[in-house]
Amino acid sequence: MIEISGLTKSYGATTVLDGIDLTVAEARIAAVVGPSGAGKSTLARCINLLERPTSGTIAVNGQDLTRLSRRDLREARRQIGTVFQSANLLRRLTAAQNVALPLRHAGLPDAEVRRRVADLLERVGMLHRANHFPSQLSGGQRQRIGIARGLALRPAVLLADEATSGLDPESTRAILDLLTELRDDLGVTILVITHEMDVVRGIADLVAQLDHGRIVEQGTVADVVRRSDSALSRALLPMPP
Ligand code: ATP
Ligand code: MG
Repeated sequence: MIEISGLTKSYGATTVLDGIDLTVAEARIAAVVGPSGAGKSTLARCINLLERPTSGTIAVNGQDLTRLSRRDLREARRQIGTVFQSANLLRRLTAAQNVALPLRHAGLPDAEVRRRVADLLERVGMLHRANHFPSQLSGGQRQRIGIARGLALRPAVLLADEATSGLDPESTRAILDLLTELRDDLGVTILVITHEMDVVRGIADLVAQLDHGRIVEQGTVADVVRRSDSALSRALLPMPP
């Protein structure tokens, strides 16, 4: 569960996030949408502790991340997995080695690392590409490796920032199915940042529209569509054939 309350982030005089309140219940998928520059990635970077919020609180499973000591911060970071658009794989490492990286950093014994990496690759359907380098994988396959790596430390929360952008519909579908499985099988709470309304319709339980650092609308996808009088509800209506 993620509970964000009064979250503000400023860079000097520029306020990028301006009083965000957002709660995502355990084992739910929330989608954050909004125009370029709205603050979506900044929100993700505040949640995964790459940025320090200016004010407000972010709690994951009841623990406020904004008030942790340096040591507790390390531990808390493990609860949050992140997948970026480019997957950010290290190109000199194989798929399996990329997934193993967080486990090695965490100091797990070799046998355990090997076992978990095989598990993770199997879960994302990539066991057959374990020894391929990123340059030998398709965009969708790299993205799946990125998700496997994001899941390596068994996080309670997974953040996906434009994880399907630039993928063909088939690869997008495979990633969305995978995220839905993670929610349903492992109870992972997932925050998806996207500009693709198909993605929102396809997997989100909850949607929040961000604009100029504020949430201008939020609700369950069904509720927002039913309102039918807002820009977001219109955007969510399927295109006529
Ligand atoms: P996009 O859809 O294009 O990815 P976004 O919603 O993810 O956009 P952010 O990357 O969160 O947008 O950026 C929000 C605003 O914050 C932008 O105007 C950006 O210029 C500004 N910003 C982001 N990082 C910094 C920084 N380190 N210093 C100053 N301004 C920043
Ligand atoms: Mg962004």
